[in-house]
Amino acid sequence: MSEASTYQTLRGHLGTLRLAAAAEALPAELERASAEKLSHTAFLERLLAKEVEATLARRQTSLARFACLPSPSRISDFDFSAQPSVDQALVRELASLRFLEDATNILLIGPPGVGKTMLAVGLGWAAVEAGYRVHYTTASDLAARCHKAALEGRWASVMHFYAGPRLLIVDEVGYLPLAGEAAAALFQVVTRRYLKGSIALTTNLGVSSWGKIFDDPMVAAAMLDRLLHHSVVFNINGDSYRMRAHRARAEATRRAVAP
Ligand code: ADP
Ligand code: MG
Repeated sequence: MSEASTYQTLRGHLGTLRLAAAAEALPAELERASAEKLSHTAFLERLLAKEVEATLARRQTSLARFACLPSPSRISDFDFSAQPSVDQALVRELASLRFLEDATNILLIGPPGVGKTMLAVGLGWAAVEAGYRVHYTTASDLAARCHKAALEGRWASVMHFYAGPRLLIVDEVGYLPLAGEAAAALFQVVTRRYLKGSIALTTNLGVSSWGKIFDDPMVAAAMLDRLLHHSVVFNINGDSYRMRAHRARAEATRRAVAP
């Protein structure tokens, strides 16, 4: 076979194997191999490295899309000095993602604006970037999705969906009461994931008030039992970060007006 036809056959092989990035890099890598007198092994390694790079980037994009994280906030963006009630060392330990290995849950409890969502989302991004499947939902979206699935006879598949991700973030538990079917949905998700996959849950209600979110106190107790069994709990009791920024701006304005 002539060199040219071997080249064409090789392009064909790469196409059949759907190695598009390698196919695209082929001419440049061949040229480089002869210019740098690379061994066959070194050439092949470089070529396949291009394909691996493209595959990882694609996987990353799809993990990020699946995660549905509502903001780009990372743990490194969190201002720990603004929130002394948050144990920085503990957050850094969680960011190592060891908690995902034994399905430890994370409960972030505190009033609005103290950074509960930001911390959960930051851990979510850390997990996505490490290649884990993560999914973010609010408690009310979870309830709505389960309700719709129940109407359409897809209860089993929606439960399967919420059991899947390595980390499930359930934000804003307690803002709206979860009665009947909605409570049952969250309860089942918690039960299915128990000891299998981590949940990071944020709530404005201390655990002693959980009876108020769910109309059935037994459901609340059973759910808390499973959530807390293997868990890290943050009780964040500082000022709202939004209010803090707002106060600082108001203060600056006041000083400018009446020095
Ligand atoms: P919560 O979920 O507790 O209501 P959020 O996480 O939504 O609070 O935080 C409210 C806003 O303040 C967000 O824009 C968030 O990024 C910001 N924020 C809160 N705490 C901090 C912090 N410690 N450092 C930087 N930004 C913060
Ligand atoms: Mg929030």
